[in-house]
Amino acid sequence: MELNLSARELARRLQAQEISAEALAQAFLARVKRLNPKLNAFVFLDEDKVLEQARASDARIAKGEARPLEGMPVAIKDIFCVQGEPTTACSRILQGFRPPYDAFVVQKLREAGAVLFGKTNMDEFAMGSSNETSAFGPCRNPWDPARTPGGSSGGSAAAVAAGMAPWALGTDTGGSIRQPAAFCGVVGVKPTYGRCSRRGIIAFASSLDQAGVFARDVRDAAMLLAAISGHDPLDATSAADAPAPDWQQACEEGMRGLRIGRPKEYFPETLDARIRKAVDEALEHCARLGAEIVEISLPHTEYAVPAYYVIAPSEASANLARYDGVRFGLRVASSELEELYMRTRAEGFGEEVKRRILIGTFALSAGYYDAFYKKAQQARTLIRRDFAEAFQEVDVIATPASPTLAFRLGERTHDPLAMYLSDVFTIAVNLAGLPALSMPIALIDGLPAAMQWIAPAWREDRLFQVAAALEDDLGLRLVPPVEEA
Ligand code: GLN
Repeated sequence: MELNLSARELARRLQAQEISAEALAQAFLARVKRLNPKLNAFVFLDEDKVLEQARASDARIAKGEARPLEGMPVAIKDIFCVQGEPTTACSRILQGFRPPYDAFVVQKLREAGAVLFGKTNMDEFAMGSSNETSAFGPCRNPWDPARTPGGSSGGSAAAVAAGMAPWALGTDTGGSIRQPAAFCGVVGVKPTYGRCSRRGIIAFASSLDQAGVFARDVRDAAMLLAAISGHDPLDATSAADAPAPDWQQACEEGMRGLRIGRPKEYFPETLDARIRKAVDEALEHCARLGAEIVEISLPHTEYAVPAYYVIAPSEASANLARYDGVRFGLRVASSELEELYMRTRAEGFGEEVKRRILIGTFALSAGYYDAFYKKAQQARTLIRRDFAEAFQEVDVIATPASPTLAFRLGERTHDPLAMYLSDVFTIAVNLAGLPALSMPIALIDGLPAAMQWIAPAWREDRLFQVAAALEDDLGLRLVPPVEEA
């Protein structure tokens, strides 16, 4: 079975009964068995449940009742609740937790006929940029197993890059889809805040968290995102009236006449010169395709990382208060209730998660609230305004996705600040609630390099429009050398 085909083509072959869902699932399972011991992209995968779903899809196809994603495997980041399946956010504190319900977007996948294909590795509670804070050990980059796949959704990115699944779900709070997509050479999309429901996604920072997708090309990403988008009455932050244009159509529109902003703050001295060159060459392609490249400024960009590292930990410190050893997962027994809380949290949380809880609790405490949390929220407003003003001038913004190529495992684990700076190009987008897409544009010394497209709120169509046109023009086909490695 050819697993390197696009998800769209696999879906078409399933619908046409040229292949069966069961055979497709078997082929992907075999590939996971072969590659996962090396990459550690999946942390849970119940073969029987996968095959059971695939057979149910085959039965529907045979009856002429196929739904849009019928029989298509989708790997799920371990932060999404899947009913009855282990769901841990890769934390010891959720050991043994099996949710009583599906996340809304998981439910949407089921309703679309998809086969839920295991849970993927991630940084604990999505806090990290390298997958190294996972309680299950790091996931590895299929391009070079000595390097990180990025994080926090590293397992999903690695799974799609290595052909272990045609599609995967991730979440993005500050870059957790776009940065791993960049490091692994796949397409990653974080939609507008509110486009997808957050219900049943283990909360990290509620005002920033969004579900999104990984795919091997832009049109596949558009197709999966369409399947998980939509209003959920049980999530007050999910938009009730979000216009959802036809994103497949947008992929065919080309970019003639579009104005692309190139913000100077996203091309600093610290940017890897090879990445700068790759992005500028990609923009030359865009100019040849009829777009106009406009130099712009987003003057408050430098406040994005510091504002995020006050706001996200503050929200996390509140969200993570619920893990107390009473209701979910791990419990370290004790005769005193308070001691039970303390011991469970001391043993259950990893170091980075504890660091975030401490920072967040401090930032929110009386006397510091105005100095830190309020200031960060004010910076957030300025960042949001920067984008609003820029979008008066341009249709879409182009930046690098990450300041470096995939770095080595262990390289930044002892330097939290260096780790936090991995996200300098992705974080502002979350603070402003905007949609953004990361796509591979070059292979540099054997590693993928990527750029990011940012659009106004609810204009994912523009992301898909420019990204698909550029992807067609570049004709890049990135397949990691994972079999030999
Ligand atoms: N790397 C960032 C952090 O550690 C973003 C993570 C994310 O998007 N979930 O918070």
